[in-house]
Amino acid sequence: MVPRMSPPVRLAALSAHVTQLLACRACPKMIGPVVSGRPVLSPVMLIGQAPGAHEGPAGKPFAWTAGKTMFRWFGELGVDEAAFRERVYMAAVCRCFPGKGDKGGDRVPAPDEIARCGAHLAAEVRLVEPRLVIPVGKLAIAQVLPDAAQLVDVVGRVTRARFHGRDLDVAPLPHPSGASTWHRTEPGKTLLAAALAAIGAHPAWAAVRDRV
Ligand code: SF4
Repeated sequence: MVPRMSPPVRLAALSAHVTQLLACRACPKMIGPVVSGRPVLSPVMLIGQAPGAHEGPAGKPFAWTAGKTMFRWFGELGVDEAAFRERVYMAAVCRCFPGKGDKGGDRVPAPDEIARCGAHLAAEVRLVEPRLVIPVGKLAIAQVLPDAAQLVDVVGRVTRARFHGRDLDVAPLPHPSGASTWHRTEPGKTLLAAALAAIGAHPAWAAVRDRV
């Protein structure tokens, strides 16, 4: 059995991991720079999909319009953007901008890119030891809950799952992109409200919210 690392050792290892991650150039089709959240030990881990064109120059995930919507949702649960970035580990399925796809939207990362970046994510789950994971959008949800067929099956509830060797709770959110109408029309609107209520009621969220 692998001995558990103490929080200071995990934090040092996580900081070293993020430094290494920022230097990753493993995917030839991805457009850098690598975008990462801060190295923070948190009971809550957010998993986004992949950064857009604006996040690289801004140097942080969810730096543009979708982020504004998402941070408004979390603000309603008592954690504003600044506190969220300081207190929640922000991971993603892929950490580089995939570029534009054929239809003008952002290219969906290829399976080999997801697998490569998945190794970073696995290391983060091991080091951060989250109790609650919030995957945002279909691609992120599919990594954590591979049996979820549709958003309506999983958004609005907390699902117990094993993810990269760790048992944890999963509370998925729809992607907050302005291009998506899912969270602004029924049943998405009601399910989003239920998902936020479930996150707000989770003890891991309370620990983040009440941290001083
Ligand atoms: S997407 Fe992930 S694995 Fe690929 S180059 Fe970027 S950081 Fe590295």
